Formats: sequence, structure tokens, C-alpha cells
Amino acid sequence: MTAPIAKTFHGNFTQQEAIPEDAIEAAVAVMQGGRLHRYNVASSDEVSQTAALEIEFAKYQNQQYCLACASGGYALQLAMRSFGLAQGEPVLTNGFTLSPVPGAIEAVGGRSVLVECTADLVLDLDHLEQQIEHSGARLLLLSHMRGHLVDMDDLCSRLKKHNVALIEDCAHTMGASFNGRKSGSHGLMACFSTQTYKHINSGEGGLLTSDDDEVMARAIVLSGSYMLYERHAAAPAAHVFEAIKLQTPNCSGRMDNLRAAILRPQLARLDEAGKRWNERYDAFAEGLKTAGNSIVLPKRHMAAYEVPSSIQFSIHRYSDEQNLEFLDTCVKRGVELKWFGADEPKAYTSRYDSWQYLEASSLPNTDSILKRLYDCRLPLTFSVDDCRLIGEVIAEVDAHL
Ligand SMILES: *Cc1c(COP(=O)(O)O)cnc(C)c1O
Repeated sequence: MTAPIAKTFHGNFTQQEAIPEDAIEAAVAVMQGGRLHRYNVASSDEVSQTAALEIEFAKYQNQQYCLACASGGYALQLAMRSFGLAQGEPVLTNGFTLSPVPGAIEAVGGRSVLVECTADLVLDLDHLEQQIEHSGARLLLLSHMRGHLVDMDDLCSRLKKHNVALIEDCAHTMGASFNGRKSGSHGLMACFSTQTYKHINSGEGGLLTSDDDEVMARAIVLSGSYMLYERHAAAPAAHVFEAIKLQTPNCSGRMDNLRAAILRPQLARLDEAGKRWNERYDAFAEGLKTAGNSIVLPKRHMAAYEVPSSIQFSIHRYSDEQNLEFLDTCVKRGVELKWFGADEPKAYTSRYDSWQYLEASSLPNTDSILKRLYDCRLPLTFSVDDCRLIGEVIAEVDAHL
């Protein structure tokens, strides 16, 4: 009897889709006009691509105001500065997130207070309350890490009880919602990234949304609006700026019209892309199931609609050797997995104990979850069948360990 041929996958896990033709045409038109700077308009009634993107994204999020800026990390900084964070002030945030989150807190002079995650990869709300009491923090910078939404109603009522403000980091939840309400509309402000590996792609870019007049006026001036804030359409009234403009520094980090032109057609297709990501996630999960039940997926909250551009799963039974063999065999079969448990940070996957610029913290639950947690990108260049096959490859590798 010959051994069955091992399933193998051939594909590039970091290949995003092409920029759509209409977006390319819009970008070319911006270049032909020469007016790439967001405030460079031919006449006072011209709405720049950047201002138009802000109107459209505010509407999409069902928020009054939106500011486009240079990156998601910069949006996080603007949000915390606009909130009025003082130097050395504690900021609560997830222990399980990516490095731009503690990096942004560091950049604005805050002090990260890390909170444990649960086995379903969301913030542990009981530990959050302990950390609120322990630190006296006034602000939570919540990372919806890998798109998993915590019970937002429970979270908001606990924050209200302690008088803690919420800034949402929606770098992984653009297009997602909780109880029918868009992720990013539950707190004071929300931040998004339009960097290549997120849900819409302009290379680099960030978006900030809010319903709060004064906080948004400060963010706009901070972002480098000179005194041209009246050219923002998704912005509070001029008198709000009058009150704050001379106290607020100009820390340039604007978006330009070229990026905005590329993003608007992608935003128009975001909900459709969300469906496609969910189809891929479901096919991958089906493929994994062929392994029996040693592979565990995080459970989604019933009220959450997520837009999974990646998938996470745990295999608790592995020894340290099996874990390494699993990762290694998957790579040999063409499946690139990220592992958050490594002691040395690798590319995007650093663990909180690698952020040595922070005060050291100990998060034993997060440690044990990350030790056997695997993570895989789902670019839309993969077909639904590709995703099922990747799941099957992983299941097959697991079955031999
Ligand atoms: C990508 C990312 C950011 C920041 O986005 P950039 O545009 O790269 O600055 C923030 N938070 C999380 C969780 C991210 O993955």
C-alpha cells in the first residue's frame, strides 16, 4: 500500500487584492490635477478627496465626525491627546495586541496598564475592573485584537460605573458590528488603519471618528490643519475650533488626496468584502474540523458580526516539541502560521513581555493562552476552496502528531 499523498498548499499569505480599476482612475485624476494636498482645492466649493472620504466614512460608521490621517498608530496618538491624557497617566489596554498599541501610548507619554485576555481572545472584563481599581486610570484603549468583539454592552456599563472613557482601536474590526451597532461607535473615539494588511488598502493611512465636538476639533487641529479646519466637512462647527485652536499644537500627520482617492471605492465595497472574508473563514474552519476536536476556535459572542481577515485557533494538547514540529510541518506544506508564544518576537507577533519599554507585568492567563495559539492570515486573493484546503492541511498535520 502506498502512503496517501500529503495535502499541500501553494499560495502567498501576504498577497492582497489589486487596487480596483475605478480607484486607480481616481488616483490618476488626482495626479493629473496636481492637487495632492488635502487643503489644495481649485475653488472654495471643491470638496477634496480626503474631505469626501471623511464624509463617507463618518456616514458608514454612523458617527458625526471623521478625520483621515497618516496611519492607524497616529490616529491612536491623536485620540489620546485629544482626550487630554496627561504625561505619565495610566492607560488601560490589552495584554494581547500588536505593538503599535503600546507604542502609541508610549508616544503620548502615557503608561500602559495591561489587561488579561480570555480564551476567546477578548478583554477579560473582570481583570479590567481590577486594573481600573488598582491604577485609577481614566481611559481604556481597547484593541479589538484579531477582530474579536468583547460583549460591548457589558464593557460599556462597567466603564460607566467606573467613569472610564473608551477609545476603540478598530484596526481589525472595520465593517464589524455588535448588536447591529458598528464597531467603533461605542466609545468617545475610534481609530482605524488603512495600511495594506487591514480591510481597505492605501499603503498607509488612518481614520478617526467621534461624536464629540471638542475632542474632534482638537484632533483636527493636532493633525496639522493649520487654520484651514473649515475645509473639513465631517467636522464640528467653527465656533468649537475658536475655543481650542490657540491651545492646540499642530503635529502634522495628514492624509493626502491620493490615498483618499484609492480608499473611497474600496469603502464602497467593504461590506461585500466582509461577506467574502466570512466565507473564507467558514471554509477554513470546516477544513480544520476534519481533524476531530483537538483544534479549538475562539467562540464569537452571539451579538457580534465580525470581519475576519485572519483566523486563530488553539491546540492545547501539544508538548513543546509537538508545537514546534506542528509549525515546522505546516510551513513545509505551504501553510504559514504565526505563533504568539515564541520568546523572541518575530515580525508582527511580539508578545507583551517583549515591550521592555513598559513597566513589567505578569499576565498568567494570557501567557497560557498564547502558548498554544496559532494565527493565519486570510487574504482575499485566496479562494474559498483555498481556505478549506489550508484548514485540511492543518488538520492532517495535527492528525499525525
Ligand atoms: C495595524 C494596527 C494598528 C496601527 O496601524 P498602522 O496603520 O500600521 O499604524 C493599530 N492596532 C492594531 C491592533 C493593528 O494591528
